[in-house]
Amino acid sequence: MSETASKNFIEVIIEKDLAEGVYDTVHTRFPPEPNGYLHIGHAKSILLNYGLAKKYHGKFNMRFDDTNPTKEDIEFVESIKKDIQWLGADWEDRLFFASDYFGQMYEAAVKLIRKGKAYVSDLTADQIKEYRGSLTEPGREDPFSSRTVEENLKLFEEMKEGKYADGEKVLRARIDMASPNINMRDPVIYRVAHMSHHNTGDAWCIYPMYDFAHPIEDAIEGITHSICTLEFEDHRPLYDWVVRELEYPHPPKQIEFAKLYLKNVVTGKRYIKKLVQEGIVDGWDDPRLVSIAALRRRGFTPESIQRFVELCGVSKANSIADYAALEYCIREDLKPKAPRYMAVLDSVKLIIDNYPEDVTEMLPAVNNPDNSDLGSREIPFGRELYIEREDFMEEPPRKYFRLFPGNEVRLMNAYFVTCTGCVKDAEGRVTEVHCTYDPATRGGDSADGRKVKGTIHWVAAKTALPAQVRLYENIIDEEKGVYNEDGSLNLNPHSLTVMEDCKLEPAFAGASAYDRFQFVRQGFFAVDPKDGCGEKLVFNRIVSLKSSYVLPKE
Ligand code: ATP
Ligand code: MG
Repeated sequence: MSETASKNFIEVIIEKDLAEGVYDTVHTRFPPEPNGYLHIGHAKSILLNYGLAKKYHGKFNMRFDDTNPTKEDIEFVESIKKDIQWLGADWEDRLFFASDYFGQMYEAAVKLIRKGKAYVSDLTADQIKEYRGSLTEPGREDPFSSRTVEENLKLFEEMKEGKYADGEKVLRARIDMASPNINMRDPVIYRVAHMSHHNTGDAWCIYPMYDFAHPIEDAIEGITHSICTLEFEDHRPLYDWVVRELEYPHPPKQIEFAKLYLKNVVTGKRYIKKLVQEGIVDGWDDPRLVSIAALRRRGFTPESIQRFVELCGVSKANSIADYAALEYCIREDLKPKAPRYMAVLDSVKLIIDNYPEDVTEMLPAVNNPDNSDLGSREIPFGRELYIEREDFMEEPPRKYFRLFPGNEVRLMNAYFVTCTGCVKDAEGRVTEVHCTYDPATRGGDSADGRKVKGTIHWVAAKTALPAQVRLYENIIDEEKGVYNEDGSLNLNPHSLTVMEDCKLEPAFAGASAYDRFQFVRQGFFAVDPKDGCGEKLVFNRIVSLKSSYVLPKE
């Protein structure tokens, strides 16, 4: 692959800008609105902006876009900072709040008024909409657009001083009511809102609109490439107008890329808020969600998310990624990193009738056959073990190679055993499986070259540790799609299964929050940081071992 072909379109733009001297450095930023938790889509934007700054030896700013006083919340500010740090994006000492620039934004608006490029209007929101025209008709001049500079300066100052009620007056940029781009038809750039702000309190009762504030924020911070998502493409002429009219010496450049969407996965803040409020999920970090906090809690690694974002690529075309691709990334990441221990989720006793009663022997096992750095351990073995209920069948179907009367299987890392039968309770439920072992097969190999088709895992009953294990499926019923006709979500009633009585081998002792393991034959699991480290360990299933995902050809 040639070097050019491997560059994304933003890198091509940046390299051209550097080569032509448009900019002599690269400075990016991530500008979240603190009105919710970050999700996997934001991770793409964070890693893209941070990655570009790093690649071109530039800088990356963290900036809260908190110009809108209605929805913002300090809880979200803290969660967002934590998530970005966890993802590995480092803003060093450059953490900013757009609200810190309110003074400069006000001055910028005054400058536009002085240049005759902005005016105060008394039109109501509905009237402004009506005057704006449509895609097919041009807009009409605002009847207040002929106010003099002096009048506008006086009125704007009065707006700031609280003389007017919300909606009574607005400041509009004077651009072009006939522009084919509706965003250029004298957009509102300041509005009156008598509201407290989480950062500035009651210092202001006028607030700048996003399209006016954002380019100013970028220019103040010396941002070179202001990367945003596609829906802002039609706003770019306004972005350029603002930086030009305000005469910033090094105007930033807006570049749009396509948002990351995941198929059949809920990312919208509105829906997640509802799931949280209705108690359907256990908060914004419920492991079934794809907020960064939820992915972290479930056991995903920052590396797996980085890899996933890279796999998705950066482009101008909207596309939908598969959750299976994210699962592929975490499996690949954890395969060599996580120790592989034995855990039985849905247990039944296996009794080895010819094994001595009071003996516990220690059997050696490697911790990860793909990574010798993880070392080895000794696993206690005895007469009574736990095995998975589904690893025994009294009347097996064809091709069932696990335990059934008369069949011989391998107990992983231990011995060959031959099933002799089972004991059932009054309801016909199996309570014990019985077998005999062959002492000559210690370690899991027969001396005479005898083969077995099945290998099952087990945990010695005497030394088993108790655990709760939570199994997750998509919170959405994928067969039916995400939304019902009335706009409500199609919930999957089986998205959470709690296994209360799981048995772990003693190697798990001392596991702590976020520790990740492969449970052999089952999948990857992590200790739940909220509930997981009490008397009983609690694990979240990150992902099962099975995958139908095929890596796309590059
Ligand atoms: P949402 O509507 O999903 O809550 P948002 O766009 O309102 O997201 P912001 O806080 O405004 O959230 O977003 C911060 C940055 O993240 C913006 O630059 C935005 O373009 C980017 N972003 C948001 N969603 C995605 C996504 N799905 N894929 C990539 N970037 C995204
Ligand atoms: Mg937004």
